[in-house]
This record gives sequence, structure tokens and C-alpha cells, in this order.
Amino acid sequence: MVHVFCLNETCRRVIHLGDHLHWNFSGKVKCLKCGEEIEVEIKDGMLISSGKSEEK
Ligand SMILES: [Zn+2]
Repeated sequence: MVHVFCLNETCRRVIHLGDHLHWNFSGKVKCLKCGEEIEVEIKDGMLISSGKSEEK
């Protein structure tokens, strides 16, 4: 399971990516609590990079 921290400073919720499709994944994930979209890059289950989505 891959864990990504929400980048919203007032939220910081851990987003659990339990789906095996996220084991090698590049794209957006959405925080279920605050709705923040986060761009992530995951390779072999390791989080390579994460950043706030530029789109609104
Ligand atoms: Zn959040």
C-alpha cells in the first residue's frame, strides 16, 4: 500500500492508495477529506514525487 500525505497545510491527511493499480502510477490523486488534488509519481510502490496540482 502506498501512502501519500495531503499537501494542504491545514489537512495533512494520509491518503491510502491500496489499489494495485497505484503501484506504478503517475497522475492525480484526490484527498477524500479536503478535496485537494495532488500530483504523484509512484514507481514499484515507492513515492518518487508529489506536488500540488497546478490546475484549479
Ligand atoms: Zn486533504
